[in-house]
Amino acid sequence: MSVAKAFSQLSKQLTGVVKRDEPLARYTTYRIGGPADMLIIADTLADLRAATGILDVSQIEWTVLGKGSNILAADAGYRGAVIILGRDFRKHFVREGQLITGAGAILAHVVQDAYAAGLSGLEFAVGIPGTVGGALAMNAGTADDWIGSVVSTMTVLQPGGELVGMRGHEIAWGYRTVGMPVGGITVECSLRVEEGDVLSIRRRMDSALTRRKRTQPIGLPCAGSVFRNPEGDSAGRLIESVGLKGARSGQASISEVHANFIVNHGGATAKDVLRLLHDARDTVLDRHGVELKPEIKFLGSFQ
Ligand SMILES: Cc1cc2nc3c(=O)[nH]c(=O)nc-3n(C[C@H](O)[C@H](O)[C@H](O)COP(=O)(O)OP(=O)(O)OC[C@H]3O[C@@H](n4cnc5c(N)ncnc54)[C@H](O)[C@@H]3O)c2cc1C
Repeated sequence: MSVAKAFSQLSKQLTGVVKRDEPLARYTTYRIGGPADMLIIADTLADLRAATGILDVSQIEWTVLGKGSNILAADAGYRGAVIILGRDFRKHFVREGQLITGAGAILAHVVQDAYAAGLSGLEFAVGIPGTVGGALAMNAGTADDWIGSVVSTMTVLQPGGELVGMRGHEIAWGYRTVGMPVGGITVECSLRVEEGDVLSIRRRMDSALTRRKRTQPIGLPCAGSVFRNPEGDSAGRLIESVGLKGARSGQASISEVHANFIVNHGGATAKDVLRLLHDARDTVLDRHGVELKPEIKFLGSFQ
């Protein structure tokens, strides 16, 4: 089935919004990216099942996007459909000592609400942009902790439409990796939190935020760390050591504050960012023999 036919079917069947040729720059923290053939906001589980079902039958490639805070989207956009979790997936509440949250909820809101309710366990995540689903897919975290360590259960929509419950301790969590079913969409999870002293929680959050403000560029569009840290070293240190801090390509540059961040000064293209990423990777390999691997995810074709 063509994109036009699938679009017409999806528009009739879904309660959420379906758009054609939607610029991805509006959905990524880099503010970069050409149009996706389709953008679907799935407001309900029925929407999500219908969308993936119709796209699969139509043989249209699709992907899930959170807040696009770990994404470099191609200038040419994405020949496929981008699915965003809408209304029903953005709820979160506390039940029997667990924080139950939809995967489309903004992680920062969940962290703030846990604090407001005097619940401890998520302080490490303060300041990490994006959704809960994105954090789970990336096993987002800091040097102190990562989200996988507080996951009690996770519910995943499998290819084919079956919902599967997984226990947090049975999932293989690693450094920015998670052993999830391929093609699965996380729809909900419960996070382990415990009652704590509100002032101590606030103190831990403030100290994490202060460290972030001191060590990361604030205010310029970016996608956080571009590369994963190699075992026993830091990508930022390696890039700085080869003199690339401040290097510029078009409207993008390697941050003066943290060399593992590439920032958009306004109007940067994916090509600008990619050129700096390749320069950093190749120069570090040449001088140190260390191959840096991207932490950011690429969306669309970069040919
Ligand atoms: C200023 C800044 C600071 C950052 N600091 C940190 C940090 O300290 N630690 C850290 O770990 N990261 C950090 N990041 C990176 C980023 O915020 C995290 O990786 C974040 O968890 C991504 O969430 P997202 O919702 O934006 O996901 P997206 O970027 O939209 O997607 C990331 C990946 O998750 C997948 N995905 C999203 N939702 C789902 C779902 N429901 N089911 C299955 N797969 C899904 C996507 O397909 C994609 O592969 C930072 C980014 C910025 C811009």
